[in-house]
Amino acid sequence: MELKICHLYPDVLNLYGDGGNIRCLRQRLQWRGMGAEVVKMPIGAKESLAGFDLVFIGGGQDFEQQVLLEDLHRGRDRELLAAVEDGMTILAICGGYQMLGKSYETYDGKRCDFVGALDLHTVGARTRMIGNYLYRVPESLGGFTVVGFENHSGKTRLGPKVEALGTVLAGFGNNGEDGTEGAHYKNVFGTYSHGPLLPKNPAFADLLIKTALERKYGSAELEVLDDSLERMAHDEMCARLERRGK
Ligand code: GLN
Repeated sequence: MELKICHLYPDVLNLYGDGGNIRCLRQRLQWRGMGAEVVKMPIGAKESLAGFDLVFIGGGQDFEQQVLLEDLHRGRDRELLAAVEDGMTILAICGGYQMLGKSYETYDGKRCDFVGALDLHTVGARTRMIGNYLYRVPESLGGFTVVGFENHSGKTRLGPKVEALGTVLAGFGNNGEDGTEGAHYKNVFGTYSHGPLLPKNPAFADLLIKTALERKYGSAELEVLDDSLERMAHDEMCARLERRGK
């Protein structure tokens, strides 16, 4: 078994080591005797998304989000829409997450019309939401907690067609107001959590791997790995957030 993974827009959407999440996915597949082919698709790439099993999109600042708009609207947007509806497994972080939504209005009034694959929109605020944070995914996704690092000015509001990826336990999440974090729709997982999200949250990594393998092969049982180190990193951050208070 193997997964073909696309790293979309690694040239513009790749903050705080977001790309390390792909290394984590590849390693967890290899530990189980499975392979991963990773293809980078920067601005201008011609290859189609069809044929991939998993798409990863990292975060980027307002500037980079505007830079990629032209390429996005040359057809990548329609392709992403189709892929989402077709059940493609997608992990999108911060700027990449916002990009899958309908639109983003920056704090200084510039408007980006995005993909519209997720029923959500984002409006920039003057005060940035920055820091380590913690959320819990619903029981239907495993009920595990996720530790992450967020840094965004955009406040995201979810529409009725998506559900929240999690409930905020510490930090800001989508907007710092309604207690929601990220979005989940079909096999798309959007989150504000940057950097080494998956290494510190192995349950999340395995959820993505399982979802993609099941779509490709019909079923997938994942061998249990020794995640004691990963769990220590996770628990240490939970304890730190606990000490910080909400
Ligand atoms: N430009 C977006 C914001 O500030 C996304 C930032 C990011 O990806 N870190 O809301």
